[in-house]
Amino acid sequence: MHRIVILGGGTGGTLAANRLRRTLSSSEAAITVVDQDDRHVYQPGLLFVPFGLAHLDEIVRPRGRQLHRDIDYLQVPIDHVDMEDRTVTLGDGQVLGYDVLVVATGAVLAPEETEGLTGPGWNQKAFTFYDPDGAVALAQALEWFEGGSLVVNVVELPIKCPVAPLEFCFLADWFLQQQGIRDKVDLTYVTPLDGAFTKPVASRRLGGMLQEKGIELVTEFNTGEVVYSDSPDAGGRLISYDDREVAFDLAVVIPVHNGAAYVGRSPGLGDELGFVPVDEHTLQSAASPHVFALGDAAAVPVSKAGSVTHFEGEVLAENVRRFLDDRPLDASYDGHANCFIETGFSKAMLIDFNYDVEPLPGRFPGPVGLPLMKESHLNHLGKLLFQWFYWHSLLPGRDIPGVHSAMPTAGKDRQQLVESEATA
Ligand SMILES: Cc1cc2nc3c(=O)[nH]c(=O)nc-3n(C[C@H](O)[C@H](O)[C@H](O)COP(=O)(O)OP(=O)(O)OC[C@H]3O[C@@H](n4cnc5c(N)ncnc54)[C@H](O)[C@@H]3O)c2cc1C
Repeated sequence: MHRIVILGGGTGGTLAANRLRRTLSSSEAAITVVDQDDRHVYQPGLLFVPFGLAHLDEIVRPRGRQLHRDIDYLQVPIDHVDMEDRTVTLGDGQVLGYDVLVVATGAVLAPEETEGLTGPGWNQKAFTFYDPDGAVALAQALEWFEGGSLVVNVVELPIKCPVAPLEFCFLADWFLQQQGIRDKVDLTYVTPLDGAFTKPVASRRLGGMLQEKGIELVTEFNTGEVVYSDSPDAGGRLISYDDREVAFDLAVVIPVHNGAAYVGRSPGLGDELGFVPVDEHTLQSAASPHVFALGDAAAVPVSKAGSVTHFEGEVLAENVRRFLDDRPLDASYDGHANCFIETGFSKAMLIDFNYDVEPLPGRFPGPVGLPLMKESHLNHLGKLLFQWFYWHSLLPGRDIPGVHSAMPTAGKDRQQLVESEATA
């Protein structure tokens, strides 16, 4: 009987456990999932909470209930991993031995790492929608907001879903128009990047959309400090390491992201940020062949996103089975990622890309699919419908028809595809 231990019961841990359980019987492998709490949050839904378009009770479900019944679920914090002994020690002193360890403990928000950010104005004048409590507090602040400067700031990369802060800007533009106060608000997007996004073609397109919507873009701004005003009527200032300043009345901050703290207590497992380096095509750790990682916890050169976690999960589950059977691993994960980008007014744009190919125009997943790199109502409906697929297809480890780990090329603009592959 093989012992598979999966650390983290979020998107990646849940779908990997369920995928493995579908193909390995309980007499072949014992599968144990460990997580510290029992709230599985559909994180893409957090974007809608500040605007009153979603509520926590619609996007949070118990973790254990998302797992197949022949999977053991332990609700205990992880203390550390010992790769030499092949054990995991939990916060309550239990020690779990493993033949395969899957690290899926995601990314942890660290607002306290930015000087001043968690001072007296935190959740009063500066908020984050990246966690459930922050998203709810921000909803209240936006309800009372009467005008002034609204600043959306990404402190540092990497972050989960790098398009989510841009989506927040587009939705804020829509929301403020609905409230009838758009002309009283200066909306600014402040990023450490040299453009709106990491990928050049999408960056130009998204930067153009910010401009069309009258949203100012401040680039190459590395926030070093946040200073709150003493006056209850004024917000504060973001100060960069090179002494530039952006004043705000209301700030929406995407804080520093790190790997889970136990990774730092586990010799050889992680990098300096606490993420776990793995082969970018097989997802196996270079430090130990018994260890695999996926999702936000994995240090691979692709966005930290649920779609990435899903596509990685397909290859990872296959590779865990191959490893246990002593067969060569499948090196087929190509960095496939896609994102619906909500752009306001019931429209969204869709981007699809991989390690080598930039987001390109065309259709997804094939020639008659959803429009790529174009705003459409259909994409907005796709974004909303995705939540259903998340709970009923992706987490249970079922395949979504036509959507697989390998990036499809069929619907993409042929000439641009060839050019993109040639420059990769
Ligand atoms: C606002 C927002 C919007 C997003 N929108 C999109 C989107 O539109 N499209 C998209 O593809 N992605 C989106 N994402 C990103 C997506 O949600 C994540 O990339 C995905 O959920 C990552 O899955 P994961 O399994 O790696 O991590 P998670 O789902 O975060 O799971 C990690 C788990 O590990 C557990 N854990 C951590 N440390 C410990 C410990 N010490 N002991 C025990 N348990 C521990 C945590 O409790 C957690 O359950 C968004 C994210 C946010 C925040």
